[in-house]
Amino acid sequence: MACEVKTTCPYCGVGCGVIARVGDDGAVSVKGDPEHPANFGRLCSKGSALAETLDLDGRLLYPEIGGRRADWGEALDLVAERFSQSIAEHGPDSVAFYVSGQLLTEDYYIANKLMKGFIGSANIDTNSRLCMSSSVAGHRRAFGSDTVPGMYEDLELADLVVLTGSNLAWCHPVLYQRLAAAKATRPEMKVVVIDPRRTMTADIADMHLAIAPDGDTALFNGLLAHLVTSGAVDQNYISAHTAGFPEAFAAASALDLPALANATGLTQAELLDFYRLFETNEKVVTCYSQGVNQSAAGTDKVNAIINCHLATGRIGRPGMGPFSLTGQPNAMGGREVGGLANMLAAHMDIDKPLDRDLVQRFWAAPTIAPTQGLKAVDMFRAVADGRIKALWIMATNPVVSLPDADAVEAAIRACPFVVVSDILKETDTARHAHVLLPSLGWGEKDGIVTNSERRISRQRAFLEAPGEARADWWQLAEVGRRMGFAEAFGHASPADIFAEHAALSGFENDGRRDFDISALAEIDRTRYDALEPFQWPQPKGAVPQERRFFAGGGFYHPDGRARFVPVHAPKARPGNDAFPFILNTGRVRDHWHTMTRTGKSARLSGHLAEPFVEIHPRDAQKIAVSDADLVMIQSPYGAAIVRALITERQAEGSLFVPMHWNDQFASKARIDALVTPVTDPVSGQPASKNVAVRASRFAAKTYGFAVSASKPQNLDTAYWAVAKAEGGWRMELAFADGDKDWIDWCRGAFSIAADIEPIGYTDRTSGEFRLAFFEGDRLLAALFLSPRPAAVARNWAVSQLGASHDNLGRRFAVTAGRPGANQPDPGATVCSCFSVGVNQITAAIREGCHSVEAVGEKLSAGTNCGSCRAEIRGIIHACLAAAAE
Ligand code: SF4
Repeated sequence: MACEVKTTCPYCGVGCGVIARVGDDGAVSVKGDPEHPANFGRLCSKGSALAETLDLDGRLLYPEIGGRRADWGEALDLVAERFSQSIAEHGPDSVAFYVSGQLLTEDYYIANKLMKGFIGSANIDTNSRLCMSSSVAGHRRAFGSDTVPGMYEDLELADLVVLTGSNLAWCHPVLYQRLAAAKATRPEMKVVVIDPRRTMTADIADMHLAIAPDGDTALFNGLLAHLVTSGAVDQNYISAHTAGFPEAFAAASALDLPALANATGLTQAELLDFYRLFETNEKVVTCYSQGVNQSAAGTDKVNAIINCHLATGRIGRPGMGPFSLTGQPNAMGGREVGGLANMLAAHMDIDKPLDRDLVQRFWAAPTIAPTQGLKAVDMFRAVADGRIKALWIMATNPVVSLPDADAVEAAIRACPFVVVSDILKETDTARHAHVLLPSLGWGEKDGIVTNSERRISRQRAFLEAPGEARADWWQLAEVGRRMGFAEAFGHASPADIFAEHAALSGFENDGRRDFDISALAEIDRTRYDALEPFQWPQPKGAVPQERRFFAGGGFYHPDGRARFVPVHAPKARPGNDAFPFILNTGRVRDHWHTMTRTGKSARLSGHLAEPFVEIHPRDAQKIAVSDADLVMIQSPYGAAIVRALITERQAEGSLFVPMHWNDQFASKARIDALVTPVTDPVSGQPASKNVAVRASRFAAKTYGFAVSASKPQNLDTAYWAVAKAEGGWRMELAFADGDKDWIDWCRGAFSIAADIEPIGYTDRTSGEFRLAFFEGDRLLAALFLSPRPAAVARNWAVSQLGASHDNLGRRFAVTAGRPGANQPDPGATVCSCFSVGVNQITAAIREGCHSVEAVGEKLSAGTNCGSCRAEIRGIIHACLAAAAE
């Protein structure tokens, strides 16, 4: 029977509501939930493609021990035994959990309870450490609590929105769409984008400040000093609700304007223009994300921003406030349950004996972790040096995402006992597990998530659990029971866990803790199943309401006052002739984290189908790299090979490489292998955006592009990058030599039977060589080789996988590597929803479509999720500029 289920998107921290429809035939489709207050029906390209990521290809369906199938009882017994043994022999700190902002709150709650209250260690940390731990630390220093004061609506109500270290258009696309729509309605609204790159977000900016890496502290210190000297501060607010202003102002005044220009890489005029804009607009929201957080001075940056809002009293009122945009779908939920090594449940403080006592009593726990545990980078150092002997990794892929990732991989490989709970059988991390536990994925699991504006929403199951996959909370609770804590882990459902979590939030909470959802402490399964999205807090007995924090003070330091934190601009990175470029890492529009889900979607993979480096044209010239060349990037820690994408959007001296690609999708593109394991001293968050590297052209003898109906195997080439395509796979290739038996190579790589003969084409003058294999009228695989990066109409070649080749003419057209005149090549995908390529958009512009709306009317591009509208606008500008020359 067909059904519709309201759930929540599992990708970014916007937390969009999704309606999933399961048809009579079992086919799933998704659409935005028009009633969800985060997105009001909108979805971005990733959310729109969720239904394409639900197949069971590559799924881990059964527990495995040492590579063999095991039953749950055996696997859980082994996990409990090995953890208990390690604790007995080496103490509680010899074990660790490394968990994830992808977990649901109930999973997170049980993991934290087991580790901190029953094992007695705080060695539980999460990939949220890599995402927003500097925001947490900044909030706690300033507010005395990890409180996000505002809500999304503030971005629409503000007269000035400052986006710093946030590529909102690609990383929080629906929020970007809300902002873009508000600006379209009120063109007088100003948007400032502060980013070393001119990202797609700058498309709607009135001002783009191409700041030097880590220049934010200096920028906001200068702003604070300017606000004081221009008389824009709110002395009443400062006096009534804060402490430490003189010290913060003194620190902020350390640099004069020329020094600020030097520290930020901006001109004095740019600085003053920005400062005046902030000074004269009371309704200002400053949004910040990984460009601020992922820094050796991330916490100071956060406090530099918050200082400016405290000084002006622009906080907690409509259209005003600092706003941390969380990366992951449930990073906020993880913070609420204390799923980080330096936190306790329900926003309590692990360093406070009273809080530890309260939590221990509530849990009736035999112990409580007495001190902070190891934060992510230190945790894996402890794995490497043998202090941690048993490690459980859940819903995350640290071999791809942690800094110095090769060393992390070596540490995991050498760890005596590693458990990995995941939905996929093969990930870069899962391959080193002693025990693999199959988890439920999106659409199969039940629980809650909290988005960036403190809104709690249900993720609901609408699919049967595949194979023997089970919820992460269940796995943890079963191990807890087997370790002797049956009573504490007797939960029968996520609703039971949520009720306990809600009760703890209100337990002896006399208002000194911000996180309180005790109104839901007695929730039963029926109410839990029907739970509508709501914002916390929701204390017991209070009338439910959505609220902002701190407009009238009421901070969570013991004296109720916020703290100004004096911060100093970090010293510029010392020059380094051996590693002259600054590497910045980040996300692309259509992929999520390590591609375990988005990598399954051909549509999403078509936008950017291989790993790349953005490099400024003058830098490319310096290192003799041309467009589409391969580039080797090296740091003292590791190396990667990626495609050159030469663009003036990239600042000179800096490179940008996306974080997503890994060993399942490319030969050598785990970019975090290059990232120095330097962390912020307060938050422990790694500095993933300011890495000294060198870059050089990676020369190959032969370059190739291929399409294949079957998944390619054993690609023994100097470079490869594969991506899902409609009807099969597409791949970019480069070979160190040009003399192979290419027919044999294709048979091995594309699983082609020996009795299928290819047709081929060779041009001895140009060195081009092509092969295509057919079975009946179906293309099995085609390989296009060239001494230079292959000039093949790629999207057209991909489309041939699904085309009929029922005559020789059609077959030889494939080896020609380009469409006939009547079959134009769409070019690289820009609009994923309608599979519209750049060549189609360019043609429409030539025909007179000079606005995003006109292109949309002609091609539908940009008319569904809207994630590509900024790119379409960029293409229009580029085409019109070229035509005007
Ligand atoms: S913005 Fe996109 S990825 Fe983020 S929650 Fe919404 S639909 Fe999902």
